[in-house]
Amino acid sequence: MEDVQRVVPRYQFASDNYAGICPEALEAMAEANVGHLPSYGADLWTERACDMLRDFFETDCQVFFVFNGTAANSLALASLCRSYHSIICHELAHIETDECGAPEFFSNGTKILLVPGAHGKVEPAAIEHAITRRSDIHYPKPRVLSVTQSTELGTVYTPQELATLGELCRQHGLRLHMDGSRFANALATLQVAPRSITWEAGVDVLTFGGTKSGMAVGEAVVFFNRELAEEFDYRCKQAGQLASKMRFLAAPWVWMLRSGAMLRHAAHANDCAQRLAAAVAALPGVEIVHPCQGNAVFMALPPRLIDGLRARGWIFYTFIGSGQARFMCSWSTTEADIAALVADFAEIAG
Ligand SMILES: *Cc1c(COP(=O)(O)O)cnc(C)c1O
Repeated sequence: MEDVQRVVPRYQFASDNYAGICPEALEAMAEANVGHLPSYGADLWTERACDMLRDFFETDCQVFFVFNGTAANSLALASLCRSYHSIICHELAHIETDECGAPEFFSNGTKILLVPGAHGKVEPAAIEHAITRRSDIHYPKPRVLSVTQSTELGTVYTPQELATLGELCRQHGLRLHMDGSRFANALATLQVAPRSITWEAGVDVLTFGGTKSGMAVGEAVVFFNRELAEEFDYRCKQAGQLASKMRFLAAPWVWMLRSGAMLRHAAHANDCAQRLAAAVAALPGVEIVHPCQGNAVFMALPPRLIDGLRARGWIFYTFIGSGQARFMCSWSTTEADIAALVADFAEIAG
């Protein structure tokens, strides 16, 4: 039995999308699974979910549900620019490194321009440089800034930082997109009103992650600038992203927002990450490399620790960002998971 447990992989810290469906999202799907209802988003669940999101953001935003984050980001970005424009983002942004060129594909060739920045965050000076270094016709015209909240490296932009970036965009006629696949984790950390890190800061469109928050599938594309949502439904349909049984994408949003589970689970995941970071930070060879502000802990580890943890069945990524080890917590991470991982860390570190 001991041997079996040794070889069965332990997935708990690989990614938040290794986790299952949280109880609230699952219950919502069961509740929505009653009778026949109109398809393609013309049902009451979809209407309710859109209303819940308008309440959540305290504004009359326009909302669409798609299957995944790559589609949400790509289609949202495509609606913000034309093919000869460019999208500025951090060099480690998901839209650059993990979407297989989908943003360029769906926008018919819009170029992505990369800027560096500490801990996964873009900085105003680098953005301004990328916008202003060229203004001639030979250069793809900067039209969109895309930021990730929380970032790919587990950090969070403050409301003030976002307001500064939003103002920069306004001055230069750029639109602001936010990849919020882990938006709930950022909110749980900042404990501010959702509006203060979105439309109040100048965000035109947010892709709000459901999957990594505990749903089975689905992301909300939230247009604060309603004009930009024109014909977005056609984009979704053409891209194969219009769910016919839309109620099952929508109902979990109703439950998770109404019950507060969205933020509660995110706060739990963040808390797990904090506890993990605190427990291993002082071990020999362990270095926490980015501020732990969301549900991820990034560490520089010696090969002995990486190999030793993997030999004990722990699965974690080492290809994200600059190649350090990433331990990702989720709604389903338990205290026992943390304790077991920390114990193995301590044993191997010696
Ligand atoms: C997971 C993730 C997405 C969405 O990815 P899909 O696999 O397409 O659902 C988008 N942005 C970031 C930063 C992510 O981590």
